[in-house]
Amino acid sequence: MSGPGRQVAAILPQFPPSAPEPVPGCTDCARYLELAKSANQGGDFSAATDLRVLMARHRREAH
Ligand SMILES: [Zn+2]
Repeated sequence: MSGPGRQVAAILPQFPPSAPEPVPGCTDCARYLELAKSANQGGDFSAATDLRVLMARHRREAH
């Protein structure tokens, strides 16, 4: 059984539960993070998720 706290967390996803860490000094990482934060704050959680996926892919390919 999960408590009420877990249910609230499921309804209101927090940024970033599984976002990759931005690489310091990388403008692309910073941009993805900023866009994901903006989307999350705007309630566009699917866009925020997409941006986290893009950011993770960028990290794999560029770093
Ligand atoms: Zn980067």
